[in-house]
Amino acid sequence: MNLYNIKHPEQQVNFAQAVRQGLGKEQGLFFPQIIPQLSHINELLNLPLVERSQKILSAIIGDEIPSETLNVMVKNAFTFQAPLEKVEEDIYALELFHGPTLAFKDFGGRFMAQALAAVRGDGKITILTATSGDTGAAVAHAFYGLENINVVILYPKGKISPLQEKLFCTLGGNIRTVAINGDFDACQALVKQAFDDATLREAIGLNSANSINISRLLAQICYYFEAVAQLPKEKRDNVVISVPSGNFGNLTAGLIAKTLGLPIKRFIASTNANDTVPRYLQSGEWAPKATVATLSNAMDVSRPNNWPRVEELFKRNGWNLAELGAGMLTDTQTEETLKAMHKIGYVCEPHGAIAYQVLKDQLNAGETGIFLCTAHPAKFKESVERILNLELPLPETLDKHNKLTLLSDEMDNDFAQLRAYLLK
Ligand SMILES: *Cc1c(COP(=O)(O)O)cnc(C)c1O
Repeated sequence: MNLYNIKHPEQQVNFAQAVRQGLGKEQGLFFPQIIPQLSHINELLNLPLVERSQKILSAIIGDEIPSETLNVMVKNAFTFQAPLEKVEEDIYALELFHGPTLAFKDFGGRFMAQALAAVRGDGKITILTATSGDTGAAVAHAFYGLENINVVILYPKGKISPLQEKLFCTLGGNIRTVAINGDFDACQALVKQAFDDATLREAIGLNSANSINISRLLAQICYYFEAVAQLPKEKRDNVVISVPSGNFGNLTAGLIAKTLGLPIKRFIASTNANDTVPRYLQSGEWAPKATVATLSNAMDVSRPNNWPRVEELFKRNGWNLAELGAGMLTDTQTEETLKAMHKIGYVCEPHGAIAYQVLKDQLNAGETGIFLCTAHPAKFKESVERILNLELPLPETLDKHNKLTLLSDEMDNDFAQLRAYLLK
C-alpha cells in the first residue's frame, strides 16, 4: 500500500511507514494513493464481520502485510460485535460501543495497536495522543501491557466526564496520562508541536495514535460494511448514514467505504455547537470559532484535523461537496432529542442523539437511515441520568475502573514542560 502526504504529495510512504510516522512533513496527513474498487460486494456482505474485514483490509493494504499476519491482526482487534438496532420505521442505530472501553474508538485503537506491533521493527516507541475523551481510553486499553511501547495521553483537565477519566487514567504500567490546563484544541496543538520537533521525535520514537493514524481509519471502514450487511436486503438501496463528527475520522472512513463500492447514497456530518463544517458547507467559508464545551464533549472540536482527507476524497472521486449533508444541534436540542428517543424506547447518549436527530430532519421518503452510536449511554451517565430522569446501571468494565485511583499528572499548556516530561 502506498500513501502520499496531502500537503506534500512528493512525500510517499508505504503502510508500515505511515503507521509508524502517523503524520507526514509539516503535519500533512497521509492518504492512500489507490483505493481499489471491490467487486462482489454482495458476497462480501454475506460474510461474518471478521472474515469480511480481513478481505477488505487485505484489498486495501495489499501484500505488504502477509495475509496470515493481517488475519491475526483483524481477529485480535475485532473481538466484539457492532449490532444494528431498529429504532423506528426506516431508522436504525449502528451500535459501535460494545468493545472493552464502550466506544467506537475501540475499533481503530485496537487495530492500530496490532498494526504498530506488526510493523514496529526494533526501535523504542512512544505513543503520544490527545483525547477529548474516548480516544484516550481506547488507545490506553489497546496498548496496555504491550512490550517496549510507552503511551502518553493528553486530555483537557475537567472537560471530560469523571467516568471517562477513570476508564483510562487508572491503568499505570506503560500508560501515562496528563491532564492539561486547556481545551482539547490546546492538547492537539501540543501533540502537533511534539511531532514537529525532530530531535524529540527521534529520541523517543514518537508515534501518534489519534484519528490521524491511517490504520485507525482503515479499521473503521469495516463497520460501515457491517451496517449495510445487517440491513434487510430490500432496505439496502437508498442508505443514508449520519455520523456524529468531531475530528471527522469516522466520516472519512465512511467515505472510503463508499469509494470502495459500498452502496451508500449519501452521508450526513452531524455536529454539536462546534459546527465549523456545517457552516463551511453552507457558506463556503472556513471560519472556526473558539471551541465551546457541550454535552457531546468528544465532538468539542472546532478545527477538525481529518477534514483535509474528506476534501481529498471528494476531489479525487469527482464528488461535489454540496452532496454532503450536514447539521448541528445545540445542547438544548440534544436534550430534547434524548427524551424523544427514550419515549420511543431507545436510550441513547448525546453523540448518537445528535446523529439521530440530524438524520431524521434530513431523511427523505424511500431512504433508509442509519445513525452511528459512538458511545455507550453509561459513558455519559451523569448527563443521561439527569436528562432522562432514570438510573443507568454501570456496565462491568466501567464499574471496575471507577473504583480505582486516578494516576494522572497535571500540566500547564506549555510545550517546554511536555518535552521534558516526555524525555524523562
Ligand atoms: C471521537 C468521538 C466522536 C467523533 O469522532 P471523529 O472521528 O473524531 O469525528 C463522536 N462520538 C464519540 C463518542 C467519540 O468518542
